[in-house]
Amino acid sequence: MTVGVIAALVVGEWATAVVVVFFMRVGDYAEKFTTARARQAVRDLTAIAPQTARLERDGQEVEVSISEVQPGAVVIVRPGEKIPVDGVVLDGQATVNQAAITGESMPVEVSQGAKIFAATIAQMGSLRVKTTLVGPDTTFGRIVRMVEEAEANRAEVQRIGDKVSGYYLPVVAVIAVITYLVSKNPLSTAAVLLVACSCSFAQATPIAMLASIGAGAKHGLLIKGGRYLELLAKADTVLIDKTGTLTTGKPRLVDVVRLNGMSEERLLTLAASAERYSEHPLAEAVRQAARDQNITFLESQDFVADPGKGVRARIGETVVEVGSWRIMEDNPLPEVTIELEKQGKTLLFVRTNQELAGILTTSDTLRPETPAALAELKRLGVRKIELLTGDNERTAAAIAGQLGIDYRANLLPEDKIRIVKEYQEQKHIVVMVGDGVNDAPALAQANVGIAMGANGTDVAIEAAHIALMREDWSLLPRAFQIAQRTMRVVKMNLGFTMVYNIIGLTLAAFGFLPPILAAAAQSLPDLGILGNSSRLLRQD
Ligand code: ADP
Ligand code: MG
Repeated sequence: MTVGVIAALVVGEWATAVVVVFFMRVGDYAEKFTTARARQAVRDLTAIAPQTARLERDGQEVEVSISEVQPGAVVIVRPGEKIPVDGVVLDGQATVNQAAITGESMPVEVSQGAKIFAATIAQMGSLRVKTTLVGPDTTFGRIVRMVEEAEANRAEVQRIGDKVSGYYLPVVAVIAVITYLVSKNPLSTAAVLLVACSCSFAQATPIAMLASIGAGAKHGLLIKGGRYLELLAKADTVLIDKTGTLTTGKPRLVDVVRLNGMSEERLLTLAASAERYSEHPLAEAVRQAARDQNITFLESQDFVADPGKGVRARIGETVVEVGSWRIMEDNPLPEVTIELEKQGKTLLFVRTNQELAGILTTSDTLRPETPAALAELKRLGVRKIELLTGDNERTAAAIAGQLGIDYRANLLPEDKIRIVKEYQEQKHIVVMVGDGVNDAPALAQANVGIAMGANGTDVAIEAAHIALMREDWSLLPRAFQIAQRTMRVVKMNLGFTMVYNIIGLTLAAFGFLPPILAAAAQSLPDLGILGNSSRLLRQD
């Protein structure tokens, strides 16, 4: 820009210098305006973080600033209020609009025991809530931070844009020198320098990426950087975890099979108490079954979870283990195992003091929107979809069969990473979709790791590159669509800039473009790119 203005002044084209500066300002404003609109989606998020909470203190209700609330505190939420913290409902009932987190404005019913999230809104009904997380630690706080940090994860194509910009000035200088030497025409030379003023190479990518990240946030898609949009647009392989990801994540307990004379109630009591502190969806199925039978949970100690295998805890004198066949060590599996697995059920073996006491079976249904979403992924260019699960072979075959996809069963977390790496070594761009602690390493290893649901485990959301904030499979093809559209816009931007500059420089060098027109023309690609990129803000 400076070189252009100086060139205009040197050849005595005062008006031209003014035109350059004028369009530079216009371009600046347009860029600021578009960037601001793209950031707005993120800023909207920050603005809706609640600032105060009604704290229950010595039986009294006091309104305090959110910074005074500690985990463990009991807060009251009145109808129509924003929920100030992440927590668990102690009592009360309400419908909650969770759009701030999930992008879904259809309210959900909550009552005792339900998990609720800061920045969501309680409609109809009030709640007493035990605080678990406050401020930046809440799910909402983390979303805001991750979206803010997203600009740091630049796409590869942006680095190319930046590089081209770096070479651009010297190349233009050389063309200007040649023009002058050949034509001896100072006006053509100035026109060359002027027409090249635009900085559209550097702008071709970042605004498009920012716009799409903003559009994604509105739909409940947390995208941690343009890099992942770029990779997602190229992805051809999708690997999917089963429990909690492909299935509803709300398995139900079906059978309680007694194997050593222990009563059904005792078996369930021990299993549910051992599962007390597990985050796994299967653990919740066991606990729910126990609650349904009004079973009182026993105190459990020395809780250990072995991801992909199961849990162990001590209950009084008894060491209780609950998990897959892997907890059985080298002991033979009872015959009934085969029959139960053939029914597509997931089996949990229960051992007390190393002795098999019984088997619990759970069954889980596919999320209803899954088949359509997988078909859509294929249509969007995904060639391979494979189910990766820690569950047994027969259950995996039953589920994969319903969907017509491939599967691998009996996997440990490290097997999942190994499979991701194998695909990557064969030059595939791999997307891994998962929800659990056992998926986190594979999510991080994948080119694009996608965490399922705001209710997915924290580690999974941290490890992933994109998080679906609502447990809805239709968000997955939507993420692909946004990514592919973004890359189309970026390529258009780059192509347009390239063609425009070549034509502009040629016309200028051969004297067909007077300096004043060159000055006006240089602003066009910038404005074109901004306009083109801002289309991405309006993605439905
Ligand atoms: P997936 O890969 O399908 O999500 P996981 O790897 O989480 O499944 O678990 C694999 C198997 O390990 C389960 O099918 C179950 O048998 C056992 N398992 C894992 N965690 C638990 C737990 N908390 N309680 C009982 N069983 C568990
Ligand atoms: Mg899982």
